[in-house]
Amino acid sequence: MLYTPPPRDPKAPAVRINLLSDTQTKPTAAMREAMARAEVGDEQVGDDPTVNALCERVADLLGKEAAVFMPSGTMCNVAATLVHCRPGDEILAHETAHIIAREGGAHAALGGLQITALSGADGQFSPETFRKALHPRSRYQPPQTVVSVEQTANIGGGTIWKKAVLDEIVALARANGLATHMDGARLLNATVATGIAARDMAAGWDSAWIDFSKGLGAPIGGALAGSREFIDAAWQWKQRLGGSMRQAGICAAACLHALDHHVDRLADDHANATKLARGLSQIAGVEVQEPETNLVFFKPDGAGVSGDRMVSALRQRGVLLAMMDGRIRACTHLDVTAAMIEEMVGHVREIVRGA
Ligand SMILES: *Cc1c(COP(=O)(O)O)cnc(C)c1O
Repeated sequence: MLYTPPPRDPKAPAVRINLLSDTQTKPTAAMREAMARAEVGDEQVGDDPTVNALCERVADLLGKEAAVFMPSGTMCNVAATLVHCRPGDEILAHETAHIIAREGGAHAALGGLQITALSGADGQFSPETFRKALHPRSRYQPPQTVVSVEQTANIGGGTIWKKAVLDEIVALARANGLATHMDGARLLNATVATGIAARDMAAGWDSAWIDFSKGLGAPIGGALAGSREFIDAAWQWKQRLGGSMRQAGICAAACLHALDHHVDRLADDHANATKLARGLSQIAGVEVQEPETNLVFFKPDGAGVSGDRMVSALRQRGVLLAMMDGRIRACTHLDVTAAMIEEMVGHVREIVRGA
């Protein structure tokens, strides 16, 4: 199962602690004010000043020539592979990648692309695994066109690719004529956790994007960055996919507000994730993966309660989270406090004790 929140139960208590995803964040009052004040224009023809300001800001942040605002991170991934590839081409990515399992097969459906799933611990493949998957050009095999990584690796546990490993993958890709794509849905979590600037993390990657609707707390949007030529081509796909907008500055204003006010605070989410993992690891019968950012994966292990039962029991106590790929994922974000984390640990302890 990919993502199975407990079934909606009208009799369940209201959700007080929402650890389901960092996509569950609600725009803050200050963000809504910034949205209300936004100067807007027709985005589709390049006339929305707030969207244009956001694109310049993201291009600079990621150290690229240009950027384009998209309605979602998924559209950033899809537009990017459609620009990089021709039908029949092969993309290499980790087997848990969002582009493989969570985008409705868009890359195959729209681009005629196949994705080779590379294995490796914690959502990451090694440069050696990547090297072994490369093959020479021949009439028999699909042209290998792009290698893609997720920074951070979502299903891998929010893990951070080391800069040196990223550099090795870029070098191998270059040497073999592949383009490089970084799915940076949570790139800023990685930069806050390591202190390495986003432009340095993304250096050498032909395309990279960030999501505003995850831990940054905006209601909508992602921005894809790359060379001017790449972004011009991505704009054409945005138009084809129906992603061109009108007065989108209302949303871009939320994203700019998030870049100003919600980046440094990602450190609080990481501290809360660490606190949660520490608390859970002290409960006998609970197995926890040590978090590197804001995602905590755990499972009851010999505690006499299944993951699904644990998720339902927590829901009955006003805590919302879900199973993901066989484990429970708890995600810390803007609307989760340290007090909520303490309460959450107490609930898990009681559920295990009662089992
Ligand atoms: C959420 C996510 C996406 C897709 O972003 P949306 O804005 O939800 O479309 C892509 N990749 C990763 C790793 C994600 O976590």
